[in-house]
Amino acid sequence: MALISVADALAHVLEGTTPLPPENAALNDAHGRVLAADVVALRTQPPEDLSAMDGYAVRSADVANVPVTLDVVGEVAAGHPFPGIIGKGQAARIFTGGVVPPGADTIVIQENTKREASHVLVTTGSPPKKHIRRAGLDFEKDQVLLPRGRRLTERDLMLAAAMNHPVVPVHRRPRVAILATGDELKPPGSTPGPGEIIYSNGFALAAMVRAEGAEVVDLGVVPDRIADTTAAIRRARSEHADILLTSGGASVGEYDLVQKALTAEGLALSFWKIAMRPGKPLMSGKLGAMHVLGVPGNPVSAFVCAKMFLVPLIRRLAGRSDITPETESAVLGRDLPENDERADYLRSNLVRPTDGPPVATPFPTQDSSMIATLAKADCLVIRGPYAPAAKSGSRCVILRLKPFL
Ligand code: AMP
Ligand code: MG
Repeated sequence: MALISVADALAHVLEGTTPLPPENAALNDAHGRVLAADVVALRTQPPEDLSAMDGYAVRSADVANVPVTLDVVGEVAAGHPFPGIIGKGQAARIFTGGVVPPGADTIVIQENTKREASHVLVTTGSPPKKHIRRAGLDFEKDQVLLPRGRRLTERDLMLAAAMNHPVVPVHRRPRVAILATGDELKPPGSTPGPGEIIYSNGFALAAMVRAEGAEVVDLGVVPDRIADTTAAIRRARSEHADILLTSGGASVGEYDLVQKALTAEGLALSFWKIAMRPGKPLMSGKLGAMHVLGVPGNPVSAFVCAKMFLVPLIRRLAGRSDITPETESAVLGRDLPENDERADYLRSNLVRPTDGPPVATPFPTQDSSMIATLAKADCLVIRGPYAPAAKSGSRCVILRLKPFL
């Protein structure tokens, strides 16, 4: 089977994939959700001219020459506008957030005044518009401030609330069923028998899925047997998973097993060997509406394949406008030899000197079974197929492995 590029494989995985239907989410449930429609300001903010300070609302002409004494004719607190107009020689006591009363065009801060019963002595004047937040300073009604496809940050929730939206239209969260295969896999905390190892990759995959704002249906580990595999596939369907993610069975015979079970359930399966390291075989297809993605069992391969293919698939289903993991530029911390036909994703450490770009240094040993170096890595240095030999200090492309999103 010919090798296909990472980009081509991704295009196949995403082919015909459209975002999940919209639903409304209350703001407290909307963090990390993806907007299904543009969100428009329902009001202007601030709605009126407001004082930015505690002090006195006055006419700037009255305080052009100081000291001057003005009549205090009223008080304005936030939420309690002054019903009258500020005339010549008059002032209103005002607090932060109070509506600047008509007639007044500036605020004299409290520190520049001295209160004397119903009068105020202004010791330092204020030019027009001083300490006033003009109506619309923040945003105007009908402005689109949060576009469709945006994943909502903490700050976006604040903004949506200020725009007067109690709920926002978001895409339904993707549900990802995760299935590991392998007779040799035992859960952490158990006592493995001869030839057995500890099941590990699913913990990273589940955390990655959740970090992308999707839900996990944990199907656990099934032995390398058709009947168990079929039962797990059926469970994924009955749990209404949008994606079934399988790991393991990278050897052809085993893949046949997962493939066989899926095919018997009605899956039209695509299977490619991808020009990437770690990685290589990737399974993709659809079983009814459910997407199926099969990554290798080797923990590092499973992780990198999930980053490159599962994450974009989740993001597309979630409705995000930005779906491919973001790469950055760095400089190499060591020489690298010429690359072969497979793109490399090298576990590397990343240091940021006080001056100059970040320096990425690939670890000397890159075996795809080495979990400790994956956990330690700050980034993956990505090298294209047939990349020429590269010197320490030359530019490279990295994919940062952020501790938290
Ligand atoms: P496979 O893709 O099933 O051929 O597995 C490749 C290698 O990864 C084998 O050494 C497996 O024992 C190991 N492996 C498979 N699945 C897992 C898993 N879920 N956690 C840890 N190691 C695994
Ligand atoms: Mg296996």
